[in-house]
Amino acid sequence: MNEIFVGIDLGTTNTLACYLRRGRPNFIRFAGSGEMLPSVLYVDEEKNIFVGEKAKKRGVIDPLNVIRSSKTYMADFDKTWTVHGKTFTPTKVASEILQEVKRQIIKKLHCADDDTINAVITVPAYFTANQKDETKKAGIAAGFNVLQIITEPMAAAVAVVHELGLDEKIFVVDLGGGTFDISVLQADQKNRTYRALDIDGDRKLGGDDFDALIYDYFIGIIQSETGLDLSTQKKSTLDYNEYYSMTGRVREAAEDAKIALSEQENYTADLMNLFQHDGKNYDFTVNLTREKFNEICQPLYEKVTSRINKFIAESDKFKLDEIGTVILAGGSCHIPKVKSDVENIFGKRTDTQLDLGTLVAVGACFVAETFSGVKTDIEQPQEKFEDIISHSLGVEVLASDGVSKVLSKIIRKGDVYPCQKTKLYTTTMDEQTTIPIYIYEAGSDCENIADIDAHEFYGDLSLEIEETAPAGVPVINVTFSYDKSGTLEVTARDEKSGVNKSIKIKKGSRDSENY
Ligand code: ADP
Ligand code: MG
Repeated sequence: MNEIFVGIDLGTTNTLACYLRRGRPNFIRFAGSGEMLPSVLYVDEEKNIFVGEKAKKRGVIDPLNVIRSSKTYMADFDKTWTVHGKTFTPTKVASEILQEVKRQIIKKLHCADDDTINAVITVPAYFTANQKDETKKAGIAAGFNVLQIITEPMAAAVAVVHELGLDEKIFVVDLGGGTFDISVLQADQKNRTYRALDIDGDRKLGGDDFDALIYDYFIGIIQSETGLDLSTQKKSTLDYNEYYSMTGRVREAAEDAKIALSEQENYTADLMNLFQHDGKNYDFTVNLTREKFNEICQPLYEKVTSRINKFIAESDKFKLDEIGTVILAGGSCHIPKVKSDVENIFGKRTDTQLDLGTLVAVGACFVAETFSGVKTDIEQPQEKFEDIISHSLGVEVLASDGVSKVLSKIIRKGDVYPCQKTKLYTTTMDEQTTIPIYIYEAGSDCENIADIDAHEFYGDLSLEIEETAPAGVPVINVTFSYDKSGTLEVTARDEKSGVNKSIKIKKGSRDSENY
């Protein structure tokens, strides 16, 4: 029985798996797509499931039966997709993608049935504990022994530190297909410790937005050349296959143009026989310069830079001049203006030796290797990864106006795992016998909003008071403890009677386990 150790970057757009051979990272290759497996799932009429390049290709012409970017819905328990009669949750899609990864690992590394495939899987830094949990479940369902879930910027930093040997504050900018993640980490070479300091990002900003702007630009040209309204199939007067094959090909051309313009100043999109118009084939040809591309995408560049500038200005965990190295990760950081905008903010060059698209998987595989028990250097201590809480957690309380309900934070964004915090509360009504405690997690981009409705309900417990008292008299001690695995324990205690009530909440299931 062999033990295999892999790092998996389960991306919104692409998934990569990496393992070490003689100390060097090696990638698992996937049919038709090289080392990047498109995180796309397609189901055909016979209910066969396809994952990867084949699924992506089929989805271009049959977009109603394809699932893409499912990671953006991870742990959204109301979200499902039904394609050709088969229903998938976001976790199930992730597990199908991971199963494909596992099949290729078994093939490439000639694994036997009883071999254990150990995996470190990465997630965005802003993922809630819920989302981390679902990712882990997907890994287990796919048949991996999931060693650890680590954040993508942490993995990117590990890869860079291994390569360049850094001992400083590192700023990671990760612009992928659908998400934008920025974070600051401290690498400490001597103690082999990586510590997350602060994170931010935009969950809805990525390469897809660039594609969408170029797609709109191309469609605009086609509409003016043909006089058709192509905004919906109905209005277009084209039939289903013709319309969706047209939109699929234009979307592909938009992404091809974007990628080509990262290398060259000019690109010509040439789509022959796009559809039938006026009894003839309509051919679409357009030339796009990098200058025009940048002009169209200007609002996105502004979003990227303003988010970074705001983060730098508002974070109390680091200062701009303390940043030693800036790392670019994610496919969309290949866009020259994204790169130069970031370099201008920091006044320094970003490293170009490392491959932006693969850093996260490489780092994850170095982390996985630390579990193998094989010490490459006896003198070196084991590497440590210290993560931070990405969303504040607290309880619902009555605001001073006596009417509105607000979030009172107990554990704060940026606190280091594991942690324990206590706050004191009291009653709002005379002779209250039951004190309900509603637990909330701060919604993304809502850290500074007090209104409870902006936040995500997490769970509740209620404490019975034995000796009642006027409002404001009882002292209720509420303690939140968060362990490394993502389990939150909430304890409420009536100071007078000493009555305790605890719940352990494993995020992801509303059925909190009382004990
Ligand atoms: P994710 O982490 O979301 O899975 P990736 O880091 O793999 O995503 O990035 C995918 C995105 O990067 C896609 O939008 C893709 O079009 C874009 N991309 C890949 N290569 C390039 C390039 N050379 N120039 C511009 N964009 C690129
Ligand atoms: Mg990524």
